[in-house]
Amino acid sequence: MPELPEVETMRRGVLPIVGSRIESVDRPPCLRRPIQIRPRIDAIDRRLRHRFVTSIGRRGKRVMIEMDDGQVMVIEPRMTGLVLLADPPTTEHLRLRIVLSGGPCEQLLFWDRRGLGTVRLLHPSEVASVIDVKLGNDALQITPDQLRMKLSASRRAIKIALLDQSAVAGIGNLYAAEILYVAGIDPRTRCDKLTRPQWSRIVAATGKVLQLAIHHEGSTLSDGTYRNALNNAGGYQNYHRVYDRAGKPCLRCGDAEIRRIVQAQRSTFFCPNCQQKSGLHPSVSAEID
Ligand SMILES: [Zn+2]
Repeated sequence: MPELPEVETMRRGVLPIVGSRIESVDRPPCLRRPIQIRPRIDAIDRRLRHRFVTSIGRRGKRVMIEMDDGQVMVIEPRMTGLVLLADPPTTEHLRLRIVLSGGPCEQLLFWDRRGLGTVRLLHPSEVASVIDVKLGNDALQITPDQLRMKLSASRRAIKIALLDQSAVAGIGNLYAAEILYVAGIDPRTRCDKLTRPQWSRIVAATGKVLQLAIHHEGSTLSDGTYRNALNNAGGYQNYHRVYDRAGKPCLRCGDAEIRRIVQAQRSTFFCPNCQQKSGLHPSVSAEID
């Protein structure tokens, strides 16, 4: 957390700053252990002063703020980071402030309670070598063939493999479980055992789950941390079908309770009845047709 839908919601939320001029960049006073900011904040301030923001992009789970001279500020929220135009949830976890002029917003803030997020300013030539080289195709754009080519030789369980950002960018623990539920595939299935129709179902389910989650502006879990750019909660937590629902009845087949298991030290939630290692449970085929 946050994953692709939350970061895409942040990206869309800060679009109003496109066209604004940067007046200064600074680090608000913060008693917490500093987050990783590269280069040093005074160098970032010097390089960005009086530059204009020309677009806001996203690479996997990172927000990319692009300037008129091609420089890009890359903000990676990691666990608890937020990119905000509104007042932050607390002042003591503010990590970065960009003061703006000439547009509807006076500032853009990066807030991070746990402080694992990072901020980097890159020259245009660095984006490919620092960011793109580590990432597979974006989860919203990847084709079944591309995903299969990346993973079909792997002996890893599909749930663990979907978290590998070099295979497919943007999916994390929560959405991986939801995607495999919609696809009707057991999360423990080894990648090298998956069939072509199963790879197609995974990619179709990925688009379906992520687009709906973006529509609802992401998931705000019980800790309340994730907020959109205006400091409002997301709504997709109300549509989770397996995540954090252990012991509750499956919403699709109704015959089984959702189970929780641990894979690579992370919780996985799934329906032991309608998520299969091979073939397709009738309740799933009714839903995805
Ligand atoms: Zn079920």
